[in-house]
Amino acid sequence: MNQEYDAIVIGAGIIGTCTAYQLSRSGYKTLCVDKLPASGYGSTSGSCAIIRPYYSTVEGSALAYESHFYWQAWSAYLGVEDEKGNVSYNNCGCMVMKTRENGYLQPAIEIMETIGCPYEELSAEEVQRRLPLLNMNSYSPAKLPEHPDFGKPNGGTLTGAVFFPAGGYISDPQLSAHNVQRAAESIGVEFKFNAAVTNIHTKNGAVSGVTLNADKKIVANIIVNVAGPHSSIINEMAGVSSDMNISTRALRHEVAHLPAPDGYDFETSGCVVSDNDTADYLRPEVGNHILVGSEDPPCDEKQWVNPDNFDRSFSNHWNTLAMRAAQRITDLKIPNQAKGVVDLYDVTEDWIPIYDKSSLRGFYMACGSSGNQFKNAPVAGEMMAQLICECERGRDHDADPVHFYLKNIGYSLNLGFFSRNRKVNADSSFSVLG
Ligand SMILES: Cc1cc2nc3c(=O)[nH]c(=O)nc-3n(C[C@H](O)[C@H](O)[C@H](O)COP(=O)(O)OP(=O)(O)OC[C@H]3O[C@@H](n4cnc5c(N)ncnc54)[C@H](O)[C@@H]3O)c2cc1C
Repeated sequence: MNQEYDAIVIGAGIIGTCTAYQLSRSGYKTLCVDKLPASGYGSTSGSCAIIRPYYSTVEGSALAYESHFYWQAWSAYLGVEDEKGNVSYNNCGCMVMKTRENGYLQPAIEIMETIGCPYEELSAEEVQRRLPLLNMNSYSPAKLPEHPDFGKPNGGTLTGAVFFPAGGYISDPQLSAHNVQRAAESIGVEFKFNAAVTNIHTKNGAVSGVTLNADKKIVANIIVNVAGPHSSIINEMAGVSSDMNISTRALRHEVAHLPAPDGYDFETSGCVVSDNDTADYLRPEVGNHILVGSEDPPCDEKQWVNPDNFDRSFSNHWNTLAMRAAQRITDLKIPNQAKGVVDLYDVTEDWIPIYDKSSLRGFYMACGSSGNQFKNAPVAGEMMAQLICECERGRDHDADPVHFYLKNIGYSLNLGFFSRNRKVNADSSFSVLG
């Protein structure tokens, strides 16, 4: 006999688990399926899990600032204690370097004023007082190691930074998805792992269910695509891609894991650093290590890949990331053995996610997270649940977009901002910064 649910969420990453949790809180009998053996094993497990409020748009920043409060009250959000322990939020803050390219952060400051998010402007001396391991030489524009001027200061110095206290990082991104799985199960959500969606069924112009592992049919009138870097495959399966102005693609990314310089306790006294000048971002990691990711400078070739067939070993890019970090961090030692993460972003044309319905009745999507939506997952889950409830009650979200109230910061967010049919947003950074 076919099993029946009100809603099926495809994907048990951090956004999928949060969506399933909130759908159940809205009264839907919900199943969350994942082709991997456990929650959070997809791109969520590779996440740097940085929490930060600065994006290039008011809407993106408002969503991210709101999310900070959810992570601060994580155990209350969950309502249960995971037997593996609940993750912790290291609220160490984020320091963003001012550069000519980012307008010395004046646009970001204006956005922070608009949404009421705290920030502090720091001079170059104050930056170095807080983080003495950094030097303030300028190296921009970012280059590849083959370039004759790679690693050479350009003669200028950075003028300072902005510090955002509403930021930091989550101790263990994969565990955070497991935490939400446990919270969701406590209110009736069912999970099926090793369960790949291989077909999406429709009836009378609406979704009617999925087939798992080319074998078992499950019936539901609501299906949500939260398949991360596989989202375009699921949208194709549902036949909704041709109705979308914004698409999603899997982009390979590497993160380097490096020891902090000898004698400097970056784990305790460090913070997140976003450095547009060297095109790296940094964050503290346990064992007094530093995670180093890329801010996607134009000189770095983008590696668009098939999410089912990509190289998980480190490339020369790992060395590039590490050497760029060594430009900013005095005395950084680069080990011979590469350590870190190779994983996928699910990227849209404007690096802004899609949280939306589709042209197929009952089929929704939370995808295109573009390497920057881990932090927003708990709020995204609530936004998706409200959007789905209102659409199922007959609202035409395309013509009359749902607004979601960000209760902690007192801001009404127009969910039309995340529409699959939006024009490419010209205000975007067109990078992982969103
Ligand atoms: C290297 C890296 C660093 C990042 N750093 C940050 C950061 O610092 N801060 C931040 O906010 N964001 C960051 N991100 C982005 C963030 O991690 C993602 O936006 C987020 O984890 C996406 O969650 P998700 O649930 O949408 O996707 P995923 O975690 O990828 O989950 C999707 C799930 O769908 C499943 N699936 C796919 N196809 C099928 C199918 N056919 N049937 C069943 N299941 C299927 C997959 O197995 C997978 O588990 C980073 C991402 C990467 C890769």
